[in-house]
Amino acid sequence: MKVLVTGGAGYIGSITVERLIAHGASVVVFDNLYQGHEAAVHPDATFVCGDLADRAAIDDTLARHRPDGIMHFASYTLVGESWEKPFMYLRDNIVNGLNLLESAVEHGVRRFILSSTANLFDDPESVPIHETERIVPGSPYGESKNIMERYLYWLDRVYGFRYACLRYFNACGATEQRGEHHDPETHLIPLVLQVALGQRDKITIFGDDYNTPDGTCVRDYIHVHDLAEAHILALGAVDGGSRKYNLGNGRGFSVQEVIDTARQVTGHPIPSVIGPRRPGDPDILIAGSDAIVRDLGWRRQYPDLRQIVEMAWKWHQAHPNGYPY
Ligand code: UDP
Repeated sequence: MKVLVTGGAGYIGSITVERLIAHGASVVVFDNLYQGHEAAVHPDATFVCGDLADRAAIDDTLARHRPDGIMHFASYTLVGESWEKPFMYLRDNIVNGLNLLESAVEHGVRRFILSSTANLFDDPESVPIHETERIVPGSPYGESKNIMERYLYWLDRVYGFRYACLRYFNACGATEQRGEHHDPETHLIPLVLQVALGQRDKITIFGDDYNTPDGTCVRDYIHVHDLAEAHILALGAVDGGSRKYNLGNGRGFSVQEVIDTARQVTGHPIPSVIGPRRPGDPDILIAGSDAIVRDLGWRRQYPDLRQIVEMAWKWHQAHPNGYPY
């Protein structure tokens, strides 16, 4: 099977490419290196440095490589930034995604995996959050993914375009070769590990007055390796029908628990201070992932927070300045 992976130089994309190649797939990475790193691209993948805003570049790549399916990771992904720069999300994520979809239809590609988000569920009626939960996007970012999901629904009806939307909760962890490196970094686990590396003085906890057992936000931290495997299972299944899955660990951990775990793993005191709440953060986000477990036999290999932090720590220690290396 040949797979085109947009955003295959980014964090989740590059690790999915690693897993695809381990499963024997042939991979073409399409990435503009805006947040991705060429050093993260697996050496056995074909790398095309291109932008989804450039329709001709997509057409050329699809015509040249004729993939059997597409995994689409390339997009702007920060909830906070999407409030400051909504057009980056409500225009670029969508227009770029449409360029890819239209080109895929024209080139006869009929299998598509969308990297979607828990930010579709801003006001859940029940926790854990299952696929039946009503969609309430929590930001322009969440709305951009919602619109992509809606386009896919119509392309399936019109063209028989088969897709899976995978809504991730908090992707984290690393493999031996690849890990999380954003600039600027905004995610909790890499920030905490940067404190342990001596690159930051302290971690600020965004609010300790949430309606949770210790007052700090509870999130569902899911290992990126397990996310990658879910993409591969979903791609193998879409011919049987389009689908949507919520992907998480199945249990939540508070910000305080993450910091305490990182203290144990690194042996560093990791000073913390309480800061104001970050706008838009709900108390608790936990995925109900029973559907993909039941339908596709998805198995989480690394559900343990300590193991997740250990694997991330190993990568950060080996690559304290991230990519390139
Ligand atoms: N968080 C925090 N301090 C930080 C960064 C994040 O307290 O410096 C909290 C954040 O408020 C959220 C959790 O850690 O409750 C996970 O945030 P992250 O940005 O990693 O992922 P998100 O939940 O936004 O996808």
